[in-house]
Amino acid sequence: MMTGSEYIESLRALKTEVYFMGERVDAPVDHPAIRPHVNAAAVTYDLAHDPQGRDLARATSHLTGREINRWTHVPQSQEDLVKKVKMLRIAGRVTGTCFQRCVGMDALITLESVTHDIDKKHGTGYHERLEKFLVATQDADLMSDGAMTDPKGDRSKRPAEQPDPDVFVRVVERRTDGIVVRGAKMHQTGAVNSHQFIVMPGQALAADEKDYAVVFAVPADAPGVIQVFGRQVNDSRKWEGEIDQGNARYGVVGGEALVIFDDVFVPWERVFMCGETEFAGTLVERFTAYHRQNYGGCKSGNLDVLIGATVAVADVQGTAKASHVRDKLAEMAHLAETMFSGALACSYECQKLPSGTMLPDPVFANTAKFNVARYYPEVTRLAQDIGGGFLGTMVSERELSNPRVADFVRKYYKTRADVSAEERIRLGRLIENMTGATPIVECMHGAGSPQAQKVVVQRLTDWAAKRKLAERVAGIERATS
Ligand code: SF4
Ligand code: FE
Repeated sequence: MMTGSEYIESLRALKTEVYFMGERVDAPVDHPAIRPHVNAAAVTYDLAHDPQGRDLARATSHLTGREINRWTHVPQSQEDLVKKVKMLRIAGRVTGTCFQRCVGMDALITLESVTHDIDKKHGTGYHERLEKFLVATQDADLMSDGAMTDPKGDRSKRPAEQPDPDVFVRVVERRTDGIVVRGAKMHQTGAVNSHQFIVMPGQALAADEKDYAVVFAVPADAPGVIQVFGRQVNDSRKWEGEIDQGNARYGVVGGEALVIFDDVFVPWERVFMCGETEFAGTLVERFTAYHRQNYGGCKSGNLDVLIGATVAVADVQGTAKASHVRDKLAEMAHLAETMFSGALACSYECQKLPSGTMLPDPVFANTAKFNVARYYPEVTRLAQDIGGGFLGTMVSERELSNPRVADFVRKYYKTRADVSAEERIRLGRLIENMTGATPIVECMHGAGSPQAQKVVVQRLTDWAAKRKLAERVAGIERATS
């Protein structure tokens, strides 16, 4: 198992084609816009060597019996699912942000069961191939980017009806040695610092959409893979200084890229679905159950940091004892724990799939993610309410060394006599970092938009049974048909 610094060094060997702000980035690992996200992902490696985290961050491979990093493990028990959630909360507490490695983990987990089911129906050989790939990933302790979200073009049209057929990833050529794929995946968290991509369809597909029913893995530096790293609010602060970033070490959420597959060749041994359209919906349902399970873990861990920053800023500013502040803090904790509870509940209420993989309860998992979309912004609102207006108006950290105004800044930003102005500013910047537009949009749309979660809950809820309960309680007799 690699350490965080070994992981960072391993990325240097990749010849990825990455662009940012109109220019090619030769060494993504060292680019100031990217490095904080690399550091956050490195925590998933360090945790396996940390006395506090190793029990959660290590697992035993069900394929080899070897000890592996849990971010490459396929859950075999209820305990595995619970440990996954607890591990994410710990990593969320350490980083205060997204550590990115979970999307690839969930892709591996999902494919273990889906390839099993495809083979059972069609007599294909995907499962064996996938397990070889899984063992290689576990043994080399690789970080995978699980790539699901297509650009989707005109939302009113199906993949095969789009004016541009490439807005969903598709097979453009089948050869004896493999396939050629074309298209793109959007919003790819951790892509620029992953070793490999696992590409999957992002929606259920119809029988005539075979070219889009494709799952494959490629190295991040495979020829034809082009990545364009996205901007974030206030990202120029990353190359301007340290304090104003708020979380200079680990950044703001995941660091996302547009990943383009410009006629990329994939050998058959890395193809795990090719044309079995009826399994695309199952794949998406399972993947989203795993990834929505996670959000109650990582985001409650992040909120532990935000709540801590709010406690500290209230203390520093002398408002900690005010009853309304204590009341709001209790509400913040309640919302964070509600998110975490959903993630635990779906893990405890799990089922074993035919492959032996454990699946969390999808209604609880989707509820957990829906709560994140709704509650994370609510917690940020309360943090800003307690923190005060300075969160939105702070002067630059450079003023702290501006000879003309530095003393004035320290004098007028000072609150309690025993606390420096810089400490208050640092706390304010951290709160600003965690409550800004980028993390809120990420909580809303990461792992799927809230409406996608509602659709699952709507579909899996037995409305007629609930009505019957009410009718019985209300004394309404109805002739049964
Ligand atoms: Fe992992 Fe959470 Fe980031 Fe998703 S948002 S990759 S679950 S840390
Ligand atoms: Fe995500």
